[in-house]
Amino acid sequence: MNIAVLALQGAFREHVSMLKQMGVEAHEARLPEDLARADGLIIPGGESTTIGKLARAYNLIEPIRQMARAGKPVWGTCAGMIVLAKDIGPEPPHVAVMDVKVQRNAFGRQVDSFEADLDVPALGPPPPFHAIFIRAPLIESVGAGIEVLAQLDDGTIVAARQGNLLVTSFHPELTRDPRFHRLFLDRLA
Ligand code: GLN
Repeated sequence: MNIAVLALQGAFREHVSMLKQMGVEAHEARLPEDLARADGLIIPGGESTTIGKLARAYNLIEPIRQMARAGKPVWGTCAGMIVLAKDIGPEPPHVAVMDVKVQRNAFGRQVDSFEADLDVPALGPPPPFHAIFIRAPLIESVGAGIEVLAQLDDGTIVAARQGNLLVTSFHPELTRDPRFHRLFLDRLA
């Protein structure tokens, strides 16, 4: 088993080190061949416009799409979620495989970054998951067949799953809590 972490821009090192701490083999992916040898993929947080632009330049969009369609686990955190979403508002979408509509930088300037304790039934019993949001997108609406995994107290959707695809508005790789990484890895055959 080997997990690729898209390493074009953003918080990819943190994902690699979390996976390694969990005893999982992980490598940084920058080229299509790095994806070809991977059993799963994480697209990190960062700046989605930059990640999308670089992914196009390096011919990674179609290989990522194929991994998603082949049923391999693919997880987007924050900007990674934007990269996977089918609808990102006024801009053209990037990989466009996840049936969600997201809104970028949705929490406004005053609350650029915040933390929240989330109840996530899919992770099993408490404690809640301590989620870190940084200029985060929110999930405005979800298509049929999408499982909502976590919401803020006001109902805002911040984590969802569609079969092998997982998206989170927040950054589990910046915590010491491996439960979302475990949930992602659980999809491996
Ligand atoms: N604001 C970034 C974007 O729109 C996402 C922020 C993040 O990944 N922490 O791409």
